Amino acid sequence: MRGRPRDGSGAGTHHEEGVEPVAPLDLPKLLLRHRRDPTRLLQLLREVQAAEGWISPAAITELARGLALPRARVEGVATFYAFLSTAQPSGPYRVLFADNVIERFAGGPELRARLCAKLGDAAAQRVGTTSCIGLSDQPPSLLVNGRAVPRLTAERIDTLAALVAQRTPLDQWPAELFQIDEPIHRAGLLLGARLGPGAALRAALARSASGMLHELQLSKLRGRGGAGFSTHDKWRAARDAPGPTRFIVCNADEGEPGTFKDRTLLRRQLDAVLDGMTIAAHAVGAQRGFIYLRGEYLFVAPAIEHALADRRAMHLLGRDVLGRTGFDFDVEVHLGAGAYVCGEESALLESLEGRRGIPRNRPPYPVTHGYLQRPTVVNNVETFACVAHVALLGGERFAEVGTPVSTGTRVHSVSGDCERPGLYELPMGGTVRELLELCGAGAEVQAVQVGGPSGALLAPREFERRLCFEDVPTAGAFMVFGAHRDLLEVAANFTRFFAHESCGFCTPCRAGTAQLQRAVDALASGKGTRRDVRLALRLCALLRDASHCGLGATAGRPFAQLHEKFKPTLERRLSSLEFRPSFDLDEALAPAREVTGRDDPHAHLGET
Ligand code: SF4
Repeated sequence: MRGRPRDGSGAGTHHEEGVEPVAPLDLPKLLLRHRRDPTRLLQLLREVQAAEGWISPAAITELARGLALPRARVEGVATFYAFLSTAQPSGPYRVLFADNVIERFAGGPELRARLCAKLGDAAAQRVGTTSCIGLSDQPPSLLVNGRAVPRLTAERIDTLAALVAQRTPLDQWPAELFQIDEPIHRAGLLLGARLGPGAALRAALARSASGMLHELQLSKLRGRGGAGFSTHDKWRAARDAPGPTRFIVCNADEGEPGTFKDRTLLRRQLDAVLDGMTIAAHAVGAQRGFIYLRGEYLFVAPAIEHALADRRAMHLLGRDVLGRTGFDFDVEVHLGAGAYVCGEESALLESLEGRRGIPRNRPPYPVTHGYLQRPTVVNNVETFACVAHVALLGGERFAEVGTPVSTGTRVHSVSGDCERPGLYELPMGGTVRELLELCGAGAEVQAVQVGGPSGALLAPREFERRLCFEDVPTAGAFMVFGAHRDLLEVAANFTRFFAHESCGFCTPCRAGTAQLQRAVDALASGKGTRRDVRLALRLCALLRDASHCGLGATAGRPFAQLHEKFKPTLERRLSSLEFRPSFDLDEALAPAREVTGRDDPHAHLGET
């Protein structure tokens, strides 16, 4: 459940932004800077966390008073997000190793053990794990006080341990430690061309708002977030919704483990994304836009702020954009704080309004009742980049690439057992095998996970399938697992991920993911029985049918697909017994042995 650290090491998780806890913040000043606006609550909490290393009870009280909110509301938000902590930190650094399965297979756990051994017991208490941090192309990786460190090796860990031991301030650490590469191995429309600021926007304005909507219709562009909803239909619905106020939201919260393409698009193709957002504003009549950036991509935020300032100076944002009287539009960056569920658009809107990221009931949909219950277009980073190219090329030319149902290209984040992890942009409809050959996966591929843990697990017999909405839809992640990998460990890791990220709002997901995790963990550790398999399958069906949102509905997919497609792998790991004791008595006696200082064979059951 949200708010629990992955390693169970304490009530909170970690502070961020790379500074040691400093003297108490000037909260009244901070509140004024945020206009005492309750929708800024999460941003305020992030700033308090960054400055003080935690959210103290006094800070919660003062924020509640300053924003005229119930104290419980502020505390509820402070305890919801994994990157906020209401526990006083025991030291200046918090290190979190990325724990998705790609990072684990790359040696993350061994390097974590090495770091803990070097730091000693006290400091090691501040070393934990977190979900994927968007660096599966350069694993293993970690966050130290919220700053990403990729490509870990034993040598880099030793350097890091020395810096921590010497209490070197983070801003004095070697810059090379934080260097994030952007490996692009196959570029197409989106990754190949670098658009100048405003180029696509000018093309769109020349077409008029309704003309641009027409081009969008001709392009048959579908949202790249995974569901594949028609971008034209979404924009048209927002434009036709009643009321004068509309919003544009760019979902840059790519939290699906194994995905990192938005990171590159934001760093290399930012003007295309911002042009796409501004084109959307013009087409639907919106005045304000937000980029909801995942907290793990904090390092991308300064460049975005810089680009926004440049665009204001170039009249690409602000009042009367490009001299169009009455076309007022601006964009602000809103940082997330480590909640995967906020990738779901209605949860994202809740978060944007300064609340806990709990998915809303739908309908009504965001196109009519979005941010502050006003019509809102929510698209992801890649979709807005596509929009810029639709404006430049025209809808028909855009639709020439791909398949009749899935037009354009798709950027795949490739990771795992291959020679060249990184980004590959292919026309929609490229096959799984084609991508495997491009990335140098070799002949010994056991399985591919497309679209992250909530996506599809594909066996070799399915490698001719096509990556597009009508066959294998994908949100962009492509994880390769060689013959030597343990697919049960993969399923267990994904199941743990969902159990951890469940927001806890509805019982089937809150309780179901936890129970499923126990059953799959037992099977992965070789202690499971057929009873566990049957229980797990029942839970998968329950989650699929009774969950409130997509997170719960897809949480059982990793195990269900493993059972369906890799049954012999599962069977081989079963304990032959139908019955498994519900607890290990000898293990339960461990605290008593510790208290009495006895650990000889006579103090263990079954060893005398
Ligand atoms: Fe939260 Fe329910 Fe969605 Fe799970 S299914 S993330 S508990 S709303």
